[in-house]
Amino acid sequence: MKYVIIGTGVAGIAAVEAIRSVDAEGEITVIGDDPHGYYSRPGLAYFLTGELPDKQLFPQMADAFRKLRFHYLKGYVTRILPEAHRLEMQTAASSKQSSAVTSVSYDRLLLAVGSRAHPLTIPGAQLPGVVKLDHLDDARSILKLARRGKTAVVVGGGITALEIVEGLLARGVKVHYLLRGDRYWNNVLDEHESKIVEHRLKEEGVELHYHAEAVEIQGRKNVSAIKLLDGRVLKCDIVAYAIGIEPKLELATSAGLAVDRGILVNQFMQTNVQDIFAAGDVAQAYDPRTGRSVLDSLWTPAREQGRAAGLNMAGMQVEYIKSAPFNVTRLAGLTTTIIGVVGHGRDEDIVGIARGDSETWRSLPDAIVAQSGFDINHLRLIIGQKALLGAILMGDQKLSAPLQRMIEDRVDISPIRQKLMTPNAPISDIVAEYWIDWRAQHTS
Ligand SMILES: Cc1cc2nc3c(=O)[nH]c(=O)nc-3n(C[C@H](O)[C@H](O)[C@H](O)COP(=O)(O)OP(=O)(O)OC[C@H]3O[C@@H](n4cnc5c(N)ncnc54)[C@H](O)[C@@H]3O)c2cc1C
Repeated sequence: MKYVIIGTGVAGIAAVEAIRSVDAEGEITVIGDDPHGYYSRPGLAYFLTGELPDKQLFPQMADAFRKLRFHYLKGYVTRILPEAHRLEMQTAASSKQSSAVTSVSYDRLLLAVGSRAHPLTIPGAQLPGVVKLDHLDDARSILKLARRGKTAVVVGGGITALEIVEGLLARGVKVHYLLRGDRYWNNVLDEHESKIVEHRLKEEGVELHYHAEAVEIQGRKNVSAIKLLDGRVLKCDIVAYAIGIEPKLELATSAGLAVDRGILVNQFMQTNVQDIFAAGDVAQAYDPRTGRSVLDSLWTPAREQGRAAGLNMAGMQVEYIKSAPFNVTRLAGLTTTIIGVVGHGRDEDIVGIARGDSETWRSLPDAIVAQSGFDINHLRLIIGQKALLGAILMGDQKLSAPLQRMIEDRVDISPIRQKLMTPNAPISDIVAEYWIDWRAQHTS
């Protein structure tokens, strides 16, 4: 069996591990165009702030990779020919970097090509000094600009926009942050949570501009200013944007694969074309529990999807069962866990979804909300009929792991439901006590 995997991200590597766990003989080829191969993309935020050196972005996997026995081809896949079970790729041949077209055949193919930043299309967006954060080279470009830049304007929303804000602040750059609406991340956070984040940003010296829409980036050779819809002009040397991501669909579309917002796959991560699978940020995965196909841009689902795809490519029948999506991240320096369904609607600052985001978070049905802690230690619970549907924890993270488990396993909360819904109830204590009892009963 000849397996080919396009993409050296977490989904691609998880697929290689899964294939090797059940097929010791098959030939595995991994193709990737990122010159740095496999590394932690969520870690880029900490690389930007200087908390993590770039070496630590790379997991210690040299030995593990050797044991997996796969061929690595550095290059860019340009075309898939499903009927011929073949693909074409461009390799940088030899040190002269002249490009060569190579043809590679496969029995089973995985597309794990990820997503890219949604482009900023206003006039001037092509000027040097305009940056995004997709990969390590982008992070290095931001750091290089920050060395000589004095003022930056950040456009966009979700986690990545704040990661860029924090990275630039840590490098001594003055930051203006533009929000199109009246608060930050309004379809995931509630008003109070947005306020906590905004307050912290202001305390750190960030200048927030509400109802601010960028219409033009000005400059001759480099960025010199950004113009807003209301006519204001902010002088700056860096413009960074994080206005959402888009799955890389061009290979799939030209090969005739069914796509919607991502590549459509069934619960076995198979596309509609025989012997072609998809996983990770590029896949819109079917969830048999809800009957919906959703996009995530999260590390853990990408790894789980890659694993399921790999096992199925090797002839097994393993369903990908979507777990309640969660992210433990930092918003304006405040550790925040987001689990399950917590919000709904549109965020004007983001097109589609952002990095570290899940469509599931914004599918809140009619449900009851309980919250406590109105300073930096804040907890919000989304209470369903019998189980918790979602949670946001800011600051104190003691309940992060228990709540992940309670939401994922749909633990019956009937005995505490009324108590949780009582006004001003100490919901953290109620959950903590219930969790201790529940675990004692279910682990014996
Ligand atoms: C700045 C940042 C912050 C993030 N924060 C979080 C977070 O807090 N929590 C969280 O859970 N997730 C976070 N994520 C998202 C998470 O990293 C992704 O969901 C995950 O990396 C997706 O993995 P993947 O394997 O699907 O794609 P990727 O990691 O994007 O890998 C795809 C690979 O395919 C290669 N490729 C694409 N097209 C081709 C082609 N035609 N030919 C050859 N190679 C190709 C690309 O170069 C790339 O190496 C963040 C991501 C970024 C960038």
